[in-house]
Amino acid sequence: MYKLLLTVLLIAGTSIQAYCQKENFKQHISYLASDELKGRYTGSAGEKLASTYIIEQLSANGINNLKGNKAKGGYLQTFTYHPKTDKGKSKVSGSNVAAYIDNGAATTVVIGAHYDHLGMGDPHHSTYRGEPAVHNGADDNASGVAMVIELGKKLKESKFKNNNYLLLFFSGEELGLYGSKWFVEHPMLDLKKVNYMVNFDMVGRVDSNKIVVYGTGTSPVWKEAMKVKTPLHIKESESGVGPSDHTSFYLKDIPVLHVFSGQHSDYHKPSDDEAKINYKGMEDIFNYTLQLIANVDGKGKIGFIKTKDENHDNAPKFSVTLGVMPDYTYEGDGMRIDGVTDGKPAAKAGLEKGDIVIQLGDIVVKDMMGYMQALSKFKKGDATKVKIKRKGETIEKDIQF
Ligand SMILES: [Zn+2]
Repeated sequence: MYKLLLTVLLIAGTSIQAYCQKENFKQHISYLASDELKGRYTGSAGEKLASTYIIEQLSANGINNLKGNKAKGGYLQTFTYHPKTDKGKSKVSGSNVAAYIDNGAATTVVIGAHYDHLGMGDPHHSTYRGEPAVHNGADDNASGVAMVIELGKKLKESKFKNNNYLLLFFSGEELGLYGSKWFVEHPMLDLKKVNYMVNFDMVGRVDSNKIVVYGTGTSPVWKEAMKVKTPLHIKESESGVGPSDHTSFYLKDIPVLHVFSGQHSDYHKPSDDEAKINYKGMEDIFNYTLQLIANVDGKGKIGFIKTKDENHDNAPKFSVTLGVMPDYTYEGDGMRIDGVTDGKPAAKAGLEKGDIVIQLGDIVVKDMMGYMQALSKFKKGDATKVKIKRKGETIEKDIQF
């Protein structure tokens, strides 16, 4: 085995890095998403095991904490919060992990990923309704953690020295972005010196080479910087506000990007397992990100733009749900379903993964936004018809909300 590997390395010099990357991703995710960590619930023993692992990986690769040493406690930022689920009565704590690559630069790039997940299944956040079971969170978000660790190692050795790099691993994300909110309110370095923030949340399930990058409207440099040679097909979305930690930074007027490999039917379920990770896809994202960082390395402090926050300001309020997972990477007409939740209206109506919703009641659905607008017109108890496209055929089904 060893000999064989050596031969491969000698012949294909360029694949040395690639080979290690995939193996390292796998090692990180296999541990973080193992049953031993019991789903890395914020404040749990599993969260501690995860943070210890991350710190060990960083310090073993010569990446210091913000104090410039490798003392374990120096990497941790503990925060407290009052969970909304018990109306804020109790007080819980969790810990962010922060590491710093100091290039003596005037500006710092934040690269982040949350490392907490849903433990044994938090009824408020899990989409799973069975007996308590470990929510392994391989894609969500052991994949992002693995990405940031490996990017950190690479950036430390890289020639891109015009920024310092702050690697942040947040806890409390699943429960309401608690860790990242705490960080921006209690920053460990001057936020004015933060150049931009790249967030990796769910990057392990690249399907058909498609990914989504959110936040592309938050700086004038992004569109140009994103012109990168890659096998990935990238769907861009301008808004700086979304359901993950980059939002906390965007709201402090920092340009952000959120890299996302797309929704899937294992989302927030015990079945989000390591075996389903697409390591080739992760490697493509890794290379894509490095080129993007390289493209803005010489640009100094990049500009910030406030975006039209479709998910925030103009999002229609709705009181009913179909019980489906939209395919966020889909770019055709309508809303493509990526998963159907048992017992909810869509499942009862016989909708399936792959169906494309094109009309709800009288309202034609052009895209995700149109789908949300259509939903907002209904209330619980309403009955209507939904028009879908399935394998090129248009089908109508009865929906009861
Ligand atoms: Zn999540």
